[in-house]
Amino acid sequence: MLGGGQLGRYALMAAASMGYRTIVLDPDPSAPAGRVAGEHLVAAYDDPYALRRLGIECDVVTTEFENPPAAALDELADHTLVAPSPVSVRIAQDRIAEKRFLVDNGFPVGPHAELSDSHPTVDPALVDVGAIVKTARLGYDGKGQRVVAGTADTLAAWAELGGVECVVEQKLALETELSVIVGRTASGDVEAWPVAENGHVEGILDLSVVPATVAPKLADRAVGLAMAVADALAYVGVLAVEMFVVDGDLLVNELAPRPHNSGHWTLDAAVTSQYEQQIRAVCGLGLGATAMTSPAIAMVNLLGDLWAGGEPDWSVVFADPLAKLHLYGKTTPRPGRKMGHLTVSAPTAHAAAARAAELRRLLTT
Ligand code: ADP
Ligand code: MG
Repeated sequence: MLGGGQLGRYALMAAASMGYRTIVLDPDPSAPAGRVAGEHLVAAYDDPYALRRLGIECDVVTTEFENPPAAALDELADHTLVAPSPVSVRIAQDRIAEKRFLVDNGFPVGPHAELSDSHPTVDPALVDVGAIVKTARLGYDGKGQRVVAGTADTLAAWAELGGVECVVEQKLALETELSVIVGRTASGDVEAWPVAENGHVEGILDLSVVPATVAPKLADRAVGLAMAVADALAYVGVLAVEMFVVDGDLLVNELAPRPHNSGHWTLDAAVTSQYEQQIRAVCGLGLGATAMTSPAIAMVNLLGDLWAGGEPDWSVVFADPLAKLHLYGKTTPRPGRKMGHLTVSAPTAHAAAARAAELRRLLTT
């Protein structure tokens, strides 16, 4: 496993329960996945010794974040199976490559343009109504983004972001945000979980509710779209497709070549979790069922901000028999850092969302 965050931790827990031996590569000695892996290589992602060990000892190498160096993936692919493929990860880790891939394959995206040394100007019609400049690489949780209005502001924000390659997107009036997570095997079998509806606060996922409270037809189209994206990538593993709903229609926001924060709920209310599915898909075992085991579930992230007065008193969560607390074992809480999440099952999406938000609110009082 390349990357030792919480997504890797859950995937390696799934691997462990299936009897696999695992190695995680992450330079952070306290990486959450390090505690559950068979072995933790504390080294850089391009460390030649670490890559050689993974290439020799692993039957398959997978990833839990989009930013392993592409060259490291290529190096590994010379020695062992890498899933998802280096090509898929390269596309998903670069917003410019991602937008080009989506446009070239006829998938719907919002108005946007590239900003780079070869395209150093911007069309006023794109940015005058409000736009977002996003670094092409290494952004996450809203980092590497600036909201702008007008050409001068856009170019200033670009300079402030270091003049690196960027995408400028028109700021859209979002009705809501959806994500579809799919598992796909090398032989082309594909399964999706029910669509999640996501709320973000300051660019960070705050609340996911499943099933999404959108028209069933729209949800079906979202699933079809995500499966088509996975097919177009000949994807192997678990892929998340983030979407915007604008004017009743779907636009693809971005792709994550890994399990996704909005799929944490699958641990608590799906026949097969996204993490087990990742292991099944990359190990060539065939896919598990994605049906829900509860009519609805909601998840709220627990950010480091909640630790401002010390570790929260979790008893309110444990007092609710339909709530599940997840903590990632991170020792240093920081504002905006994902420390854990909680889920609540309920008869309806609205009830689940309301209860999850209420439980988190109670943690702060
Ligand atoms: P990240 O990699 O940080 O998740 P995203 O591109 O998904 O970056 O942006 C984070 C969030 O910011 C989105 O989920 C959405 O809420 C908001 N956002 C991003 N792009 C746009 C846009 N073009 N118009 C309106 N809101 C946007
Ligand atoms: Mg996103």
